[in-house]
Amino acid sequence: MKILANDGISKAGLIALEDAGYEVITTKVAQEQVANYINTNDVAVILVRSATKVRKDIIDACPGLKIIGRGGVGMDNIDVEYAREKGIHVINTPASSSDSVAELVFAHLFSGVRFLYDSNRQMPLEGDTNFEGLKKAYANGTELRGKTLGIIGFGRIGRSVARMALGLGMRVVATDKFVDEAEVRVDFYNGQFINVAIKTEPVEDILKEADFISLHVPAQKEGYVIGKAEFETMKDGVGIVNASRGGIIDEVALLAALDSGKVSFAGLDVFEDEPKPAVQVLMHPKVSLTPHIGAATLEAQDRIGTELAEQICSLLKP
Ligand code: NAD
Repeated sequence: MKILANDGISKAGLIALEDAGYEVITTKVAQEQVANYINTNDVAVILVRSATKVRKDIIDACPGLKIIGRGGVGMDNIDVEYAREKGIHVINTPASSSDSVAELVFAHLFSGVRFLYDSNRQMPLEGDTNFEGLKKAYANGTELRGKTLGIIGFGRIGRSVARMALGLGMRVVATDKFVDEAEVRVDFYNGQFINVAIKTEPVEDILKEADFISLHVPAQKEGYVIGKAEFETMKDGVGIVNASRGGIIDEVALLAALDSGKVSFAGLDVFEDEPKPAVQVLMHPKVSLTPHIGAATLEAQDRIGTELAEQICSLLKP
């Protein structure tokens, strides 16, 4: 049976599938050729990340398709319900990248409290002529330890962020529309662990209490989660990170809050206007920036490949 991994697959996933007897094709087929390729090559499974779209047209044109697999979480590029109505399995790997996203959150937080986002811009320009000036400019950093981290959206990634924050000695407060309490397991390198139960609180309390806020909610149907009104209730000098979805934070309100000093820095991995983020956001001196790479680690890609392989083997087992 043939599997087309059109947006690539990790070596671990590839080996697991080949060991199970599947032929995995890693040729990148152009979007408009995908349906034709599936039919002429008898492909039973198509695996995608976010680049390839599997819409009604492909689903209708390819009656031999048994599984559509998304390596990662969001399935905006797949007509999921339609495929399922046609009897096609649609699978994804929601848990594989949580720790990678959580670590990126801390990359932004550490960058924020020690001004790395700005230092990395200024050192190449002035590092050799104004070393002492820059040293002074970035002198008043702060530690994360002992501060309060507010987590909005206490699902897989939110809990992974909580785990790391607890490990650093931070106080964690969390809010979630549907989760009242969650047990967060903090693992140590030597196999020891502790469980910490965290009760969620109303979002208003989190906004007031937190020194830093990290957002981990899915795309919302009803507007922003953080807009002008929410910024106003936050602590002065709060730091905020968004590695969830563009459109969760109102970027215009964020820029105003950064300019007024209400927010001391923002770490953004996702943007309202991806893949062409607003230039005012990209150029803002108090923003730490990454181009939607939360899940993009070798370890996460390995776990994604392996998790897809396991699901495929279990769904197709005779
Ligand atoms: P999840 O479903 O496990 O958790 C999301 C949580 O948010 C749920 O518990 C839900 O009840 C809660 N929620 C929904 N709306 C809310 C609201 N308005 N207020 C408070 N809580 C709300 O999802 P996850 O795996 O933790 O992923 C979280 C987000 O991270 C998603 O948007 C996902 O697309 C994004 N993500 C980003 C990257 C990246 O590369 N930056 C990678 C993976 C996932």
